[in-house]
Amino acid sequence: MGSVRGIHHVTAIAGDPQRNADFYAGVLGLRLVKKTVNFDDPTTYHLYYGDAGGSPGTIMTFFPWGDLPRGKVGAAQVTATAFAVPEGSAARWLERLREAGVTARGPQEEGFDRRVVLFEDPDGLRLKLVESPVPEESGVRGFHHAVLCVRRPERTLRLLTETLGFSLVAEAEGRWRLAAGDGPVGRLVDVVDGAGVPLGRMGVGTVHHIAFRVPDEEAQRSLREEVAALGYNVTPVIDRKYFRSVYFREPGGVLFEIATDPPGFAVDEPREELGSRLQLPPWLEGRREEIERSLPPVLVPSGEPA
Ligand code: ZN
Repeated sequence: MGSVRGIHHVTAIAGDPQRNADFYAGVLGLRLVKKTVNFDDPTTYHLYYGDAGGSPGTIMTFFPWGDLPRGKVGAAQVTATAFAVPEGSAARWLERLREAGVTARGPQEEGFDRRVVLFEDPDGLRLKLVESPVPEESGVRGFHHAVLCVRRPERTLRLLTETLGFSLVAEAEGRWRLAAGDGPVGRLVDVVDGAGVPLGRMGVGTVHHIAFRVPDEEAQRSLREEVAALGYNVTPVIDRKYFRSVYFREPGGVLFEIATDPPGFAVDEPREELGSRLQLPPWLEGRREEIERSLPPVLVPSGEPA
């Protein structure tokens, strides 16, 4: 039991794909590691950003569904996504964000963290940068934590600790911090008590789901069985080309995914060329021309570090 090793990726809904790329690859300096389509809706992009190699624990992904109305952040959602930045870099980040026209607050104490910069992406998605002991210059290093807001946190906490393998590392009034795995990033999840918080509504600027990482398909299979045995309605294993996935809704209403680390993003293009060309799964390759025609072009700004 408990084979989860932290966050694999977080997937959110964006509006315009170019604006999304300008922000995540340009302002935040992440690498666009995969430009593909939503496998369930191939006329929409699926854009993946992460570190240079697209490591699990660094992957923020988007479905640009510009026709969808703005969502509402609230209970039964991931209400904030925090990236780790090196210690001492918050002030520089604040300046960079403000220069890019982003309204940002901080560095300030927030939740369990001491130096946090709070801001939103161009679609209103809530983000944070958290100073933490991560290596290297000033870049975004991956996820620091994600915040789950749920109305009855006990059940969500029980699932995360008793089944998925997280352990409680900090507790405050209405807020619990859980950790899993031993990676430098992507280990933490904060559960906040959303009693009395209005339910969120899915739409542009909200998180669609959060994926937790497991080392291989064997670990995924046994975890899937465990979750199913508890009465959750879990999907079969789905081939997402870069990982295998199962999905289920946790008791607080947040959509959870369990994703395998392998095979990873270098499965269809070399590491140096990640994100440079539209990639399609084999079963959509025959429709490439039609799909490419239906997608607006996305130019990737070179994400020089802050
Ligand atoms: Zn996912």
